[in-house]
Amino acid sequence: MRSFPPLFRRAVRICYYAVFLAVPFAAIAQSSPPITYAISLASPEQHLVEVQMTLPAGASQRDLQLPVWNALYQVRDFAQYVNWVRATDRSGKRLPVRPLETSRWQVQGAEDGAIVEYQIYADLPGPFGAQLNPHHAFFNLAEILMYPVDARSATMRVRLSHVPAGWGIATPLLSEPAGDFTAESYDRLVDSPVEAGNFQESDFDEAGGHFRVIVDADSADYNMDKILAALHKIVAAATTWMNDRPFDTYMFLYHFPHGPAGGGMEHSYSTAIEINADAMRQSLNAFTGVTAHEFFHLWNVKRIRPQTLEPVDYTKENYTRALWFSEGMTSAAEATIQLRAGLLDEERYLARLGAEISELERRPAHLTQSAEESSLDAWLEGDSYYHRPERSISYYNKGELLGVMLDLAVREASHGRVSLREVLQWMNTNYAKKGRFFDDSAGVRQAAEAVSHADLGWFFTKYVAGTDEIPWNDFLRSVGLRAEQITITQADAGFSASRDFDGPMLVGAVESGSEAERAGLEVGDTILELQGKPAGQESRETLLRLNPGDTLKLKVRGRRGERELKWKVGARQEISYEVIDLDHVTADQRARRAAWLKGEAQNVEPASGARPPASGNLGPVTPTPEAESRGPHAEIQTPLQTAGAPAP
Ligand SMILES: [Zn+2]
Repeated sequence: MRSFPPLFRRAVRICYYAVFLAVPFAAIAQSSPPITYAISLASPEQHLVEVQMTLPAGASQRDLQLPVWNALYQVRDFAQYVNWVRATDRSGKRLPVRPLETSRWQVQGAEDGAIVEYQIYADLPGPFGAQLNPHHAFFNLAEILMYPVDARSATMRVRLSHVPAGWGIATPLLSEPAGDFTAESYDRLVDSPVEAGNFQESDFDEAGGHFRVIVDADSADYNMDKILAALHKIVAAATTWMNDRPFDTYMFLYHFPHGPAGGGMEHSYSTAIEINADAMRQSLNAFTGVTAHEFFHLWNVKRIRPQTLEPVDYTKENYTRALWFSEGMTSAAEATIQLRAGLLDEERYLARLGAEISELERRPAHLTQSAEESSLDAWLEGDSYYHRPERSISYYNKGELLGVMLDLAVREASHGRVSLREVLQWMNTNYAKKGRFFDDSAGVRQAAEAVSHADLGWFFTKYVAGTDEIPWNDFLRSVGLRAEQITITQADAGFSASRDFDGPMLVGAVESGSEAERAGLEVGDTILELQGKPAGQESRETLLRLNPGDTLKLKVRGRRGERELKWKVGARQEISYEVIDLDHVTADQRARRAAWLKGEAQNVEPASGARPPASGNLGPVTPTPEAESRGPHAEIQTPLQTAGAPAP
């Protein structure tokens, strides 16, 4: 993940282009001499990467750190893959290397510089991993590159060596004429994925920016013209929505594997995305959703960034209460970008909203774990028990819903004059562009209140920090909608399982007395195959498509060894929500809805206080100095307390 020291950040963007225009390399490397890395791809069959790191002259003792986490909010201890470490001075004489911690080593006698070499096993597939195999190499560099603890902000140069014949290299890093890639710091280096292999490349210009598209997949599984057409629309929709393009070039990097596929990873100047090939053949829906999400992250989380994630601490968990915003709001934006791009229509959007409400309401933990707590607990997502519905909610799921409800709340408070778009643009202008990080939820609240001139403390207290039931209908009324609760008969497989990004699919719970239990399924079993297909991203869809009475076939491995299990799927009643029209939708509600679905404020006359309050909800809060200076605990009646009974 990315981190620039705040004051450095704007200068970096200027530098970026200047360097590109062939300013001598030394001009930006005066302060600290560069650290250079040579990454050897000589052993793809063994997935072994050899790294040679050259340290310039400096301190006699140099501490080297390999990050314990990267790309996922999970400690994965990449040091487990380091086979050996050794060091020499410039004349080839051995220097002592002493492990200090599992992920930290100390080189001694390095005052005249040192060459550190180590071998690391790299076979973590997907956009969150680092992998070398005979097909390709894909690296999140933080997973394979140690950094000198005293020189993390030094210029970094990287060269790939022993690249198999016929392979190309693609990365958003700056390339030097000699074939090196450079970055102005370690943080920037590791925010730049590297792909080496036999990929297809295309490019296009849009909104004044240049875009490279790298696809490593079977050409029968995708159509580059259709991909480019969708990317044009997504880029245009997102940049016009944010009224900003904080880069000159950006890279989309795709893999479409036939097996399990992992999702997407955001970077400041690129994204790496993996989508199952069968899903790609069926439609571009998965492609446009993930792409819009990751592209929006270049603002939200990469540049509009919570203070709690800065500076990145690669040695331990970085706790933040802001992922409901950084991830969930990005999911809300993903939908809006697709709506604006004509890639999603109202019917599908409302179906998505109903499904998100259903997902949250079905988890008993929505009454015990807040959106902020779910963010803080992200680091437990590698553990299967944590995913149980009584233990946790998803900050993606509740965060997206909070994004939608906050949008409706600021529209209501401002009589349609502002929307989520203005909130996000305010954060971009006042935090990102000024090189500031925002103060987690309080920073979001500050932005929402600044643009709406309303006190929104109730929203953040009840629904962001708190676990109050969200009265969906009170929010949805302003756009002529309601959430209708229905009971559906649902297939019940008798167990729950979760798949953690690129990890295996683990059984987290088995219902007692169920057919699954009788068949011998156990908590902790790893699902290898589901209905004869390898377990992966699409397994969830397969489970969702089951009907009561269907036969479910699983191949699992666990305490009792590898087994093939088979049982009949049961049935249970489940609460679900559909978002539908109110019986009578007024012209005002229709106008508000049309603006909401475009992600835009309504074109109404400037604030005068003359407009009557809409349908019994909160009137405009005059932006007097007193209102602006109200503390976070000021008492103010909220629209949703007074706007009728909560949703069932
Ligand atoms: Zn995301």
